[in-house]
Amino acid sequence: MLRRATRTLLAIVMVTAGTVLGVGATAGTAHADSCYTWNRTLSQGSSGSDVTQLQIRVAGWVTSGERLSYDGQYGARTAAAVKRFQAAYGLSADGVAGPATFSKIYALQDADCTPAHFSYAELNKCNSTWSGGAVPAATAKANALKTMWKLEAMRRKLGDVPITISSGFRSYACNSAVGGASNSRHLYGDAADLVGTPSLCTLARQARVHGFSEILGPGYPGHNDHTHVAFDPSAYWSAPTCGI
Ligand SMILES: [Zn+2]
Repeated sequence: MLRRATRTLLAIVMVTAGTVLGVGATAGTAHADSCYTWNRTLSQGSSGSDVTQLQIRVAGWVTSGERLSYDGQYGARTAAAVKRFQAAYGLSADGVAGPATFSKIYALQDADCTPAHFSYAELNKCNSTWSGGAVPAATAKANALKTMWKLEAMRRKLGDVPITISSGFRSYACNSAVGGASNSRHLYGDAADLVGTPSLCTLARQARVHGFSEILGPGYPGHNDHTHVAFDPSAYWSAPTCGI
């Protein structure tokens, strides 16, 4: 809470100093959010970059094994994800993203667009630049953001329990230093190693319905002390101790 309050205060100071540019906080918008502001209601059939922004926030609200596309096309799957998001936060679950839905997202996102309970620092304990991995720095950072929103959904679904991340993005150097696989998703920025509570098996099982396509946990070689979640184009789950 302290960190969030501090960041909010910092954002206010920055706005006061006139150093925040292009934040969409123009007069007349219903809500001026320092990360991103939606200016229209979105529903099935909508398309555009504002749909993509929405998809990033709701991609953690899918069915088992499903991965929502960030394609800017508001189809049935996006509507279903929005419905689950709405239901999870006590909103009217109609699958239409209007003011109430956006207000909830605004309340959940920080000024840097990360969800309330996760930060870029937690997803990158390797270096401050996101460079040196398998993809350009901007891609690695964007991948980490997508992973954070999935984790935010997972955290909510588990009953608002804290989720602790021991490792996120790694450069090749950082990955080698910890003995990571040479093709590790940590090099792409979308992987997160989860530790502590809830149990590793609870985390591994729950991750299946939040858009993670790579889940490695207890019983998989090298994963008895953490559950690894990531987005990999070729889906793979293995946590034999957990029956996965
Ligand atoms: Zn990992």
